[in-house]
Amino acid sequence: MKLSVIGCGYLGAVHAAAMASIGHEVVGIDVDQRKIDSLSRGEAPFFEPGLQEILTETIASGRLRFTTDPAAAKGSKVHFIGVGTPQQKDGHAADLTYVNTAVNSLIPHLAEGDIVAGKSTVPVGTAAGLAERIVPTGATLVWNPEFLREGYAVQDTIDPDRLVAGVPAGPEGERATETLREVYHPSVAKGTPFIVTDYATAELVKVSANAFLATKISFINAMAEIAEVTGADVTQLADAIGHDARIGRRFLGAGIGFGGGCLPKDIRAFSARAEELGRGESVAFLREIDEINLRRRDRAVQLVVDGLGGSVYERNVTVLGAAFKPHSDDIRDSPALDVAVRLHGLGAKVTVTDPAAIENARRVHPQLAYVEDRDEALRDADAVILVTEWDEYRRQLPPEHASTLTTGRVIVDGRNGLDPAAWRAAGWTYYGMGRP
Ligand code: NAD
Repeated sequence: MKLSVIGCGYLGAVHAAAMASIGHEVVGIDVDQRKIDSLSRGEAPFFEPGLQEILTETIASGRLRFTTDPAAAKGSKVHFIGVGTPQQKDGHAADLTYVNTAVNSLIPHLAEGDIVAGKSTVPVGTAAGLAERIVPTGATLVWNPEFLREGYAVQDTIDPDRLVAGVPAGPEGERATETLREVYHPSVAKGTPFIVTDYATAELVKVSANAFLATKISFINAMAEIAEVTGADVTQLADAIGHDARIGRRFLGAGIGFGGGCLPKDIRAFSARAEELGRGESVAFLREIDEINLRRRDRAVQLVVDGLGGSVYERNVTVLGAAFKPHSDDIRDSPALDVAVRLHGLGAKVTVTDPAAIENARRVHPQLAYVEDRDEALRDADAVILVTEWDEYRRQLPPEHASTLTTGRVIVDGRNGLDPAAWRAAGWTYYGMGRP
């Protein structure tokens, strides 16, 4: 099928390449000339495992191309909207400027029977408003939220755990559903759950999923705060409650909390939208979830200060990680970088290392020192803090080896990813999050 994907960022570039890899003929459209140039050369403009391979393969096959020209959408059967919906500069609500601009640029190129499939994460009610503008063209709007995880985006796009489509009632909705089933044919054939619903439910599925995940993380981090004043160990607590199948162990990793381009802005936008709907109290807990999350960054900084005897001023601190999570170069609202910036603000001589995110981090925070090589970054450190749980730091850094590089022996484990006994045995003072 001929498809267009409007917006070629972390979601859209992967979606375009993944759709081409399952056999569709795809054009990716973006306003960012540099991104389009890079994609057209077959070079992934950001780090996402597996993306480079499917880009190379699908561009060579002739099924995938990229352009900045919105008219290239003409002739596609389905047009995916994957542009950004960031937090507004002066508030908590989502900024829908990009969605509105993308839809406006698409409308002149739509034909009778086309499907516009919204994938961006939007406040509930957005699709109904967009549909009013799209319907006069003879096209149909569906809302098809995306659940991919950065770091696993290719796999999640090609083989998602569920598909959700919000469609209009009646035959038009049924036709659109059939078309989407054809688009996602390998998943449909495999029996992947395909939930067909209305616009509002589809929009809410996405934001409520993210609200739930954020809540789970902040719940365990709240337990970490209690553990810290009682001498309890939150990781053992998480293991123990996680054995209850109703609770489950996943997403119960206490640490410096969540970040990235989705969870923080999505829970804030959800709160803002609920306020507009007169139901602010229903999700008032999300403000607390946000605050617990941000407090953990303070805690991590405080542990470094404590570890260095009360001040980090002029001390060498090595920060292991910059990306908001491993297997990604995404630094949007990264807790790791936030901690690094705060330590720098307290006068520490901060050296940041990361396997993938240095270039992005340097662009946004040029005041920090960056070193690509992990061991070089560790050299002469008075204290070390692990903030992104890359395997290079979590599994492949024996404490005995770290000892040969650093001056001090203070390790703050912002992700509870290290073995405290091993680090202590090697002579280090180990600080975890919510662990004695
Ligand atoms: P991103 O910033 O990486 O990409 C957005 C892209 O849209 C950019 O390349 C930008 O240049 C482009 N764009 C902006 N206006 C445009 C226009 N008028 N026409 C064409 N292109 C335009 O953002 P992202 O992470 O890909 O997220 C996109 C949306 O998907 C957001 O709503 C986000 O919440 C949602 N989402 C993201 C993820 C994720 O893991 N990144 C997962 C699920 C949902």
